[in-house]
This record gives sequence, structure tokens and C-alpha cells, in this order.
Amino acid sequence: MLGKSTLYVVATPIGNLDDISLRALDILKTVDVVAVEHIQNSKYLLVTHGISVPLISLHQHNEVEVTNKILTLLAEGKNVALITDAGTPAISDPGAILVQQIRAKGYLVIPIPGANAAICALSAAGITNPHFFFYGFLPTKSMARQRELIKFKSQSYPAIFYEAPHRIIECVEDMIEVFGANRMLTLARELTKVFETIHVSSLVETLSWLKSDIYQQKGEFVLIVSGAEKTDKSQVSEQAHNTLKYLLAELPLKQAVKLAAVITGENKNTLYQLALRLKQPD
Ligand code: SAM
Repeated sequence: MLGKSTLYVVATPIGNLDDISLRALDILKTVDVVAVEHIQNSKYLLVTHGISVPLISLHQHNEVEVTNKILTLLAEGKNVALITDAGTPAISDPGAILVQQIRAKGYLVIPIPGANAAICALSAAGITNPHFFFYGFLPTKSMARQRELIKFKSQSYPAIFYEAPHRIIECVEDMIEVFGANRMLTLARELTKVFETIHVSSLVETLSWLKSDIYQQKGEFVLIVSGAEKTDKSQVSEQAHNTLKYLLAELPLKQAVKLAAVITGENKNTLYQLALRLKQPD
């Protein structure tokens, strides 16, 4: 049973058309209008599930204009659903402006959860860290991409990126440049589809695997870069680590930490914790 003048934000499949909830199907059958990203792309899903409802197209280039149309529909007491080509609307997809404006006017916005490529990939990656960052699409140019990636270099959390097939090789190359060859990468390709592949390996091995098989470069990709290892060295600079080690060999712990902090500019507490670990017998 629908309420009045509500926007339903409905997740749709990311490949396999069966990955849609009963509630989503029910909503899509009963709203007055469905806003879709591309009519042609959504028609197949809707027809497959026996849904015939008026559609309007809302994409990144007309979101503001169509938002006004949807506000008019809501003002007339209509219910509207929003779907995108795949997955959850407003997640690296249009929808956020629409939702913001509709909320601002005081209408109800109800999310209908379902598929999302990032979460789907993460759920099968075997990454035990309970935290993660979601970034979405990186910049398309190498320099700008590396500038963004550097922000994640020393993070201990895994970071999730979306990437297009024609940039997959250069993106992994940039990741090697920033994170080093041995950082682990989960590459999730064509999730829920016929050629679904989940490849977990070091960045450098993933690059040669991709290069050795052109078919692995096709389709849609989620990339999960594992977090930085919490080694003693990654918490402070290599220089600070070595300085502290030499000083500890000659001086009492407190004095070594104090001097190392002055020499290297590193945080005294971090150096103190590191000194305690360095002093521990192996
Ligand atoms: N809103 C969507 C979601 O909830 O995941 C994301 C839409 S974004 C425009 C499309 C990107 O998501 C693709 O370029 C790819 O990086 C990722 N993606 C979508 N479907 C995928 C799939 N089946 N397998 C792997 N990645 C996918």
C-alpha cells in the first residue's frame, strides 16, 4: 500500500535481473511514474518483470530540470519511483540532487534497498577489516588519479573504486605507482553476470594477469585496494624509524624518544609506542 506524494528510491540489479526485491517490484508496479536513467536500459528490466508504467528519463545532464517536473507530480499527489541503469540510485549515479530537493520541499523519500556493486564485491572479497572507504569513480587522467590515490596510501582501511574497462590497465598501473607492487587488490568484474570474476592478488600480479588475457579487461569493474599494513615503519617515516633504532641502542628509552622526536619531527607518543615495541625481545 503506497502513501501519498512519496519518492521511492529503488535499487535494481547490477546484472542478474533476478536480483531485485519483492518490495521493489511491488513499488514499481504501483507508483504513478518511474524516473529512469535511460529508458531503453530500464525497459528490459521492467518488461521482464511485467511492469508497465509511465517513464520519464532523469540523467546527469537533466537532473535539475526533471527534478522540477517530479516536484510538480508530487504536488499533484502522485507517487514516483527513481531507478538508475544498475544498482542503487545516487551511488555514483544520478539521484542525489533529486532526493535533496524533494526532501527540502518536505516530501517523503523512502529507500528500497537492493544491489550495489561495491558492497557486492566487498562481501565476496574476504577482507576481514570491518571498516572500508567507498570512493567511486577516480579521475580519468593519470596525474589527477594518482593525486586522489595518494590520499589512501597510508590508510589502514580498504578503499573501493569503480573503474571503466578502457581505463582498467592504466588505473592498476597508477595504483602500483602509488601503493607499491605488493599491495593486495580485489578485482571484481562483471558481478552477477555470466563472466563474473573475482581475482584477489597483489597489484603487480593483477596487472600481468590482466595484460595476459584481453577478455579480463572487458566489462564492469570494482577495485578494492587493501589497507596499509600497520607495521612499525608505516606509522612513522623510514628515517624516523631508523633514527629511533640507533638512539635506542645508545640511550635510555625516554631520552632516545625525546631526541628522535626533535630530530625527525614525528609525534613523541607514536615514537614512544614504537620504542616499546623495538625494545621487546623477538
Ligand atoms: N549505482 C551503482 C551501484 O549501486 O553500484 C553504480 C553505478 S556506476 C554508474 C557503474 C559502475 O559500477 C561501473 O562502471 C562499475 O565500476 C560498477 N559496476 C556496476 N555493475 C557492476 C558489475 N556487475 N560488476 C562490477 N562492477 C559493476
